[in-house]
Amino acid sequence: MTAESKPIDIPAIRRDFPLLSREVNGRQLVYLDNGATSQKPQTVIDAIADYYSRYNANIHRGVHALSQEASQVYEEARATVQKHLGAGNVNEIIFTRGTTESINLVAATYGRMHVQAGDEVLITAMEHHSNIVPWQMLCEEKNAKLVVVPVNDAGELRTDEFGKLLSAKTKIVALTQVSNTLGTVNPVKALIAQAHAKNIPVLVDGAQAVPHMAVDVRDIDADFYAFSGHKTFGPTGIGVLYVRESILETLPPYQGGGGIIKTVTFEKTEYADAPLKFEAGTPNIEGAIGLAKALDYINAIGLDNIHAYENQLLEYATAKLSAIAGLRIIGTAKEKAAVISFVIEGIHPFDIGMALDAQGIAVRTGHHCTQPLMDRFSIPGTVRASFAFYNTKEEVDLLAAGLTKAVKILA
Ligand code: PMP
Repeated sequence: MTAESKPIDIPAIRRDFPLLSREVNGRQLVYLDNGATSQKPQTVIDAIADYYSRYNANIHRGVHALSQEASQVYEEARATVQKHLGAGNVNEIIFTRGTTESINLVAATYGRMHVQAGDEVLITAMEHHSNIVPWQMLCEEKNAKLVVVPVNDAGELRTDEFGKLLSAKTKIVALTQVSNTLGTVNPVKALIAQAHAKNIPVLVDGAQAVPHMAVDVRDIDADFYAFSGHKTFGPTGIGVLYVRESILETLPPYQGGGGIIKTVTFEKTEYADAPLKFEAGTPNIEGAIGLAKALDYINAIGLDNIHAYENQLLEYATAKLSAIAGLRIIGTAKEKAAVISFVIEGIHPFDIGMALDAQGIAVRTGHHCTQPLMDRFSIPGTVRASFAFYNTKEEVDLLAAGLTKAVKILA
């Protein structure tokens, strides 16, 4: 706990998440796969049901009352996201399907405009596939080069190398704020400042940051910032892309269709202004509404309080798991979010995952969509326990006991 953070009422919070009380394989569920997706509080579930029960209509097009109402709540959701990210202007917030689509949007618009043959895109060795593949596709199309900042043995970004790899050829940097596999928290503000000193814009993948810590896009000075609703206690199929206004004005549309236009003739289309210009077709209205409720929910608890509590959980779990014979934690950065990836000598991660599932404990096993990172550590995959603020020390104890049991059976 820091001086500013307050303890949070975990039992009351857990009651807000109906799924947490279910049983799996005859045991009370222990849900430790929050990095893949988080559970949803009742307020989010209710908001979605309320939309469909009371004011379901298409938005921005109808003059009738339901459409007006739905449009208003959808746009209020955008304002909630703006406030949450500290963006200066609500138009800088684009709703997408998720982090993956947000990154693809930037690669397909800004990337296509600015990356030419011989140029470079700088990413890091700890990126999720969704922050690798879109850039790789762009580089292939443009005959440009994907350059990768390495990580050290603790899973920390080699910031010394980062500075060296920023060059006159670098047209954009794309890096994660928090690694989904290692938990490493990158010093994005300092890295962005370094890139900006060379006039290079930066996209931050915030998929694993927004659920766990306060983010202010203006403070870190990000040019693009992406995150997903479903990892942030909101619905699936909704995500966000923040784009700095001065860049936004220069971007072409991402997809063509209805909703993004001012006028269409067969000769020429005049596009709507951002953000609608980037939201072709009927958007995920229920998703935006649910996401705003999720952000309200975490703000009511307070992200500083969440961050402090999750740090305690991380410390406790790290000590507990480290005491298990043969267990090695992959990712021991000084600055870490509440994610613990590990391997156990002589046992395949998949078998550990299955043995834990039999005990009602949900963890993720495999490469976590970070195959190059697995290669860096010369392992096929890990077991990953990823925590949220509704997890408890008792659940950590159950994980540790479950692992000890699994080792006895499988070793
Ligand atoms: N980036 C990171 C760091 C992630 O953890 C994930 C999801 N595992 C993604 C991007 C992709 O997010 P989504 O599948 O919601 O588009």
